[in-house]
Amino acid sequence: MYLVILGAPGAGKGTQAYRLSQALGLVHISSGELLRVAARSDTPLGSQVKNFVESGALVPDEIVIALILDRVANLDDAKGVILDGFPRNREQAASLDAALASAGRKIDKVLYVAVNENELVRRSAGRRACIKCEATYHVQDQPPKVDGVCDRCGGQLATRPDDTAERFRGRLRIYEERTAPLIDYYKAAGVLVEVNGEGPIDKVQEELVAALKGVA
Ligand SMILES: [Zn+2]
Repeated sequence: MYLVILGAPGAGKGTQAYRLSQALGLVHISSGELLRVAARSDTPLGSQVKNFVESGALVPDEIVIALILDRVANLDDAKGVILDGFPRNREQAASLDAALASAGRKIDKVLYVAVNENELVRRSAGRRACIKCEATYHVQDQPPKVDGVCDRCGGQLATRPDDTAERFRGRLRIYEERTAPLIDYYKAAGVLVEVNGEGPIDKVQEELVAALKGVA
C-alpha cells in the first residue's frame, strides 16, 4: 500500500503520518528525515545528497525519488509506506507516478488533512520547540508541564524561526502556490481522501483510519 499525506504547514500531517504508521504497520517516510539519513550514509547516493545539502542547493527530484524507491525496496515485512513531505508539486507527483509505474506500483490513497488558514496561523503562533531535542509544544493546545521548559529533556523552549508570523505566512503562500494544486491532481486520479484536520489529534486519527478501511 502506497499512501501520500498532504496538508499545509502546521496541519499536523507529520504527527498523523507517524501515528498512522504505528497503527497500521506502515513505514513513515518523511522526505526531510530521508535526506538527513542519506547525507550521513556511506553510499554513492548519500554523498550526492551531502553535496547538495552542504552547498545549500535543493536536492533534485530524481535523487529524492531514488531514495524513496530504495527505501521502499527494503521494507521487510511492512504493509506499505506513507510519504510525508514529498511530492510537493505537480512535477514531483508526475515523476513519482512514473517511477512507481515502472516498478509495477502506484499510489493507492492520498490523505489530505484540511485545516483553515486562521487555525494554521493560530497554531503556528503558539508553537514552541525545544532547542535541545526538538520536541514541539503548543502554549494552548499542548503546554509543557513547566512554562518554557521541555518535559522530555529540561531544555529551553523557543519559537522556531519558521514559525515567526512573517515566515509562516511566506510558507503558507508557497504551499498554496505549489503544493495545494496536488489536491486537484490526486482528486482527478480518483485517490484523494479529505479529512477535517481541525479537531483533536485523536479524532483526526480516527477519521484517517476510517478513510483507509478497505485499503489498509
Ligand atoms: Zn527537549
